[in-house]
Amino acid sequence: MHSVDQAIARLLATVQPIADVEQLGIDQCCGAVLAKRLVSGVNVPPADNSAMDGYALRHDSWHHADTPIPVSQRVPAGAVAEKLAPGTAARIFTGAEIPPDADTVVIQENCSEIDGSVLIKKMPEKGANIRPRAQDVAKGQVVLEAGRRLRPQETGLLASLGMATVPACRRLRVAVLSNGSELVEPGEPVAGGQIYNSNRYLLNALLRGWGFEVMDLGIVRDDPAEIQQLLGETAGKADVIVSSGGVSVGEEDHIRNVVAGLGALELWKVSIKPGKPFAFGHVCGTPFLGLPGNPASVLVTALIVARPYLWSLQGMSNTEVQPMQVRATFSRKAPSRTEYLRVRHSPKGLEIYPSQSSGILFSSVWGNGLAVQPEGHEIHKGDTIDFLPYALLL
Ligand code: AMP
Ligand code: MG
Repeated sequence: MHSVDQAIARLLATVQPIADVEQLGIDQCCGAVLAKRLVSGVNVPPADNSAMDGYALRHDSWHHADTPIPVSQRVPAGAVAEKLAPGTAARIFTGAEIPPDADTVVIQENCSEIDGSVLIKKMPEKGANIRPRAQDVAKGQVVLEAGRRLRPQETGLLASLGMATVPACRRLRVAVLSNGSELVEPGEPVAGGQIYNSNRYLLNALLRGWGFEVMDLGIVRDDPAEIQQLLGETAGKADVIVSSGGVSVGEEDHIRNVVAGLGALELWKVSIKPGKPFAFGHVCGTPFLGLPGNPASVLVTALIVARPYLWSLQGMSNTEVQPMQVRATFSRKAPSRTEYLRVRHSPKGLEIYPSQSSGILFSSVWGNGLAVQPEGHEIHKGDTIDFLPYALLL
């Protein structure tokens, strides 16, 4: 059996990231992975501009609070400022370009304008209230490296550089299949022995949230011939296939044999709880991830084992997530496999959901992340333990 770290390392060692690049519209790029290093072609802001509404002038043209200074121009945002006439001030507004030769902006609260001249009650230091050209980003500066997943703030930054399109890695295409003869789709009546298919929607949502394209294969029964046909047809059409169910040791668990027959089963069983029967292999050259059937196992193995692998396939350069250190409000005996506990982080510390059974998906709905309990480690109330908020994994 592989440790969690070994399993992840084995998967990562096989990764060949998506090489296809597509130009995405700036409004479509959030969530995508940047395919190229981006260097700014412009300065942001493009020119010195005013941070406040007020008056722009040369610092050395002010001598006394009672001496009026003529106002020689008015510069609203969007206007082009003229060179400042010597000994004068410009009425100026936030975001407007500083007139050449002005070096300071006085906020309007410290000024009074009478008959075309301004009295400045309090002069700030030279350079005050001016946002210098290129303060945010300088022309020629590397703004983002390839492999970054674009969040709303990166999207905004790229727009601030004037980029209308962004070179992104083609979205990973992930085929999803739900294996189990007992499965029924939501909306259908459930007969005796049947349960609703939750993994399909859990996985689809997770994968789409990660920015992938989902190729939804629906349900396949516990029938080796049916599984074989579906996997065979899907190989080559998706970048990776993800299944749930049918990877355990029961007589009705056929996934592993079919994968081995169509390609290779390269890894089976990880020392993780929930989720031990996790499987990895290839079918006709297409990578295959076999997640267990229990919904909490699906969530945990998807977030912990599949996520770094899929993120790498998608072209992300850094797939590591730094856990937070948080105090446990519970004690727990040492497990034989590394456990990912469904917990809730609150001002009280980490609380644990009373049942950690792999069939209890509600534990993850109740909570806001996973606490890590390494195999062989006890947790004592008050211990500081690793906590992975779902927000960092989604
Ligand atoms: P298996 O690994 O196929 O033995 O499945 C383990 C448990 O997970 C069984 O109780 C299954 O009924 C349940 N299960 C498998 N697939 C799904 C699914 N798609 N949705 C909900 N439960 C499932
Ligand atoms: Mg099954």
